[in-house]
Amino acid sequence: MTDQSDLTTAPFVERHIGLREPDIEAMLKQLGFESLDALMEAAVPGGIRVEAELDLPPALTEDVAARELRRIASLNRPAEAMIGLGYHGTITPPVIRRNVLEDPSWYTAYTPYQPEISQGRLEALINFQTVVGDLTGLPTANASLLDEGTAAAEAMTLVRRGNRKASGPFVVDADALPQTIDVVRTRAEAMGIEVVVADLAEGLPDGELSGVLVQYPGASGRVLDPRPVIEAAHERNALAVVAADLLALTVLEAPGEMGADVVVGSSQRFGVPLFYGGPHAGYMSVAAGLERHLPGRLVGVSVDAEGRPAYRLALQTREQHIRRDKATSNICTAQVLLAVVASMYAVYHGPEGLREIAQRTHRFAGRIAAALRAGGVELENDTFFDTLTAVVPGRAADVVAGARSLGLHLRLVDADRVGISTSECTTPATVASVLRAFGVAAPEVGLESAEGLPADLRRATPYLTHEVFRTHHSETQMLRYLRRLSARDYALDRGMIPLGSCTMKLNATTEMEPISLPGFADLHPFAPAEDAAGYRQLVDELEGWLAEVTGYDRVSIQPNAGSQGELAGLLAIRGYHRGRGDEGRNVCLIPSSAHGTNAASAVMAGMKVVVVKAADDGTVDLDDLRAQCDAHADDLAAIMVTYPSTHGAYEDTISELCEIVHGHGGQVYVDGANLNALLGHAKPGEFGGDVSHLNLHKTFCIPHGGGGPGVGPVAVREHLAPYLPSHPMHPEEAKRSGIGAISAAPYGSAGILPISWAYIRLMGGPGLTRATAAAVLSANYVAHRLGEHYPVLYRGHGGLVAHECILDVRGLTKESGVSVDDVAKRLVDHGFHAPTMSFPVAGTLMVEPTESEDLAEIDRFCDAMIAIREEIAQVEAGTWSPEDSPLRHAPHTARALVGDWDRAYSREVGVFPAGVDPDKYWPPVARIDQAYGDRNLVCACPPPEAFAE
Ligand SMILES: *Cc1c(COP(=O)(O)O)cnc(C)c1O
Repeated sequence: MTDQSDLTTAPFVERHIGLREPDIEAMLKQLGFESLDALMEAAVPGGIRVEAELDLPPALTEDVAARELRRIASLNRPAEAMIGLGYHGTITPPVIRRNVLEDPSWYTAYTPYQPEISQGRLEALINFQTVVGDLTGLPTANASLLDEGTAAAEAMTLVRRGNRKASGPFVVDADALPQTIDVVRTRAEAMGIEVVVADLAEGLPDGELSGVLVQYPGASGRVLDPRPVIEAAHERNALAVVAADLLALTVLEAPGEMGADVVVGSSQRFGVPLFYGGPHAGYMSVAAGLERHLPGRLVGVSVDAEGRPAYRLALQTREQHIRRDKATSNICTAQVLLAVVASMYAVYHGPEGLREIAQRTHRFAGRIAAALRAGGVELENDTFFDTLTAVVPGRAADVVAGARSLGLHLRLVDADRVGISTSECTTPATVASVLRAFGVAAPEVGLESAEGLPADLRRATPYLTHEVFRTHHSETQMLRYLRRLSARDYALDRGMIPLGSCTMKLNATTEMEPISLPGFADLHPFAPAEDAAGYRQLVDELEGWLAEVTGYDRVSIQPNAGSQGELAGLLAIRGYHRGRGDEGRNVCLIPSSAHGTNAASAVMAGMKVVVVKAADDGTVDLDDLRAQCDAHADDLAAIMVTYPSTHGAYEDTISELCEIVHGHGGQVYVDGANLNALLGHAKPGEFGGDVSHLNLHKTFCIPHGGGGPGVGPVAVREHLAPYLPSHPMHPEEAKRSGIGAISAAPYGSAGILPISWAYIRLMGGPGLTRATAAAVLSANYVAHRLGEHYPVLYRGHGGLVAHECILDVRGLTKESGVSVDDVAKRLVDHGFHAPTMSFPVAGTLMVEPTESEDLAEIDRFCDAMIAIREEIAQVEAGTWSPEDSPLRHAPHTARALVGDWDRAYSREVGVFPAGVDPDKYWPPVARIDQAYGDRNLVCACPPPEAFAE
């Protein structure tokens, strides 16, 4: 007998994995295997299996891991953040911090593709869109982008699509945020777009242009009147983008009122912690006529089957999963959780509260300006909102060091200039410390405040006039509003979300708690490296562990979503070919079953997409692959292949596939979103991959947040390491120049890295390896139980599936008229979130149970699917027509309990298909009409009367 404390797997692994030992034995027996090892040996092709254990530190208990994370957090020293550059101190109202950011009913939700069970977060997101639309003065805003830098890059490509008349370079304000300029340049270079950086105070540079970006207010603090630039751009047939600070827009006139076509920015300072750079919600709003070019997700209003307004995602045919290589953008995971926080901050403070915060912020900047000037310090600009640039020849480093010793982080612009940004967190004591750092005496009484807002740019346009911004200002009201919305939604705190390709596993509380530690939450991304030693350790360890588990040599955690990891990986491939003088290699092979982001990312990396066919058994057709490789022998850049394939099967041919591509001079990109089927058992960097991205928000326990945040690290073999993302303000000097920035912050969504760090540290190598086996066991168990009711579309090596399986509903649809949609919505009546619908094969459902679900929940799901199959049989038998069946009327709301009832089935069958359940989840709306909402596009808060009965 081993003592419990001697086990290699610490008890946490038993908390993370839902299956108990006797369950595992029973499930294995049904599948005909002796042990988990035997199952994995049969499932994973021998040629790719690793024999050695993962070389990771031994598992810690939850308590010890939590203490270690507190220690690491304490190595960071977040001074009062006055560096500015798009990141500002802000106060997350505790009622929002605890009941959104730290509440699993918000953070464990999935992207709202099933709108009937997502009305709460859809309402929060339409509030976000309304905040952005109102403040920027444009009619349509999306439901978040990844950060300000990528939003600006998306705007650059949008103005080219939206305005085919214009050609020529994209002009960027020299006073734009430096990281924005770098992200825009990275994207532009790959797409062959010329970028010209110019001082826009001098007007537009001569010559043609496709668009211009003005920063409002600028990085230096200057508030340039954008009107002359916008007008000049329009005269030359170009579109104008304004990158704006949302808080400043409460007191400065809206760019949309001044003619801007697109407005972008960050909503970070609306209550979202600094997080050392992210995650934060970027935003974008557009003028009328450009909405169909908007990247990202857009929430709109439609109607449900009972005729009431209901929210759902609008204009989805724009998105990458439909348009693929013709998509407007590769964005998939966005920043929903942070957009919800920002929107709630606006709901909580209301228009007057926001204006007061802005005015106070401005007043403090004005006091510092007046006192500095009185003390003989020259300021670079006369106009400002919250940021000043002080000119102190030769003394800048001393002033910044002095401020640091007083607990302030100021911006070292260069040897002669210091940047100072005030915020919601600024106090009179802050002002006193700033003045001390400059060696300027504060006046004894009543500090004067200089006015920095240009008179003709003061805001006259109203904003946030909708009732929702006036009704939840007490904490009780706010608490109840948050509860009401989250109660409408189905998240992991209610039950299983068996979404194939999304890996909706446990997001453990011990993993989540550290993100709120001030050492992690309150650090500015451009704080001096010596004040970020904790993050340095966390990032170094995490990148090292991810390299170990994937078999690659180097990892960068900068990309803040899987899509961005893809772009970073493809840019590395591009850089490598060009570095060898192979400029012509620009073809990217993509199997027909690939995720939509793959094709969209390839186009953004300047590559040409060539589709490789699938064979009948779902595998990549190697004959077609060979033919394509031969046809593109001179211009083959790469293949992007998902392993296990998006069909959920371990294909035997992966090694051969890699050899063929390598043999033709191409690089192999292995999309690592399905790493949950490989971890501890096979390593993409060893079986032929040159580069992969991982999704920490899938395999490594970062919650989905209702559609973001995410982290999409890119992992490469040594020869691609020189082409990993760089960043102009990277804490490590060696990483400041290179291929360019992929994200606005050097470490992307740094603030949520503790989650994945904790997961790996709590599981250890054996724990991760066991979790993979448990996930594969559960998927095979589902395939086994449901296979006789719904055909399992593809099986791989050994007749087994990997960590997910595709249930084919197409035959049943043909026979009965019951669609895959009907099955998905009927699952809601059973208390489940639907599996992934119609990806990667239309008309099918892809189920991924993950290792975290217990056997009772998995069985409950299988029972629900079997009960639905029986209802389909009744339709086939003619008991009900498809239109009259409970399947088509699903989901049923509480309304089904009252009023007239003329359906072909009873109320009981409708609402309680598995028997009366006191804990039933009631969807707040019935089936939503998707087409109606796209024909009648409304993307801001509807008036309250719309909901009147
Ligand atoms: C989820 C996923 C992606 C995209 O990741 P995001 O973080 O949503 O951008 C790419 N490829 C596959 C196979 C995926 O499942």
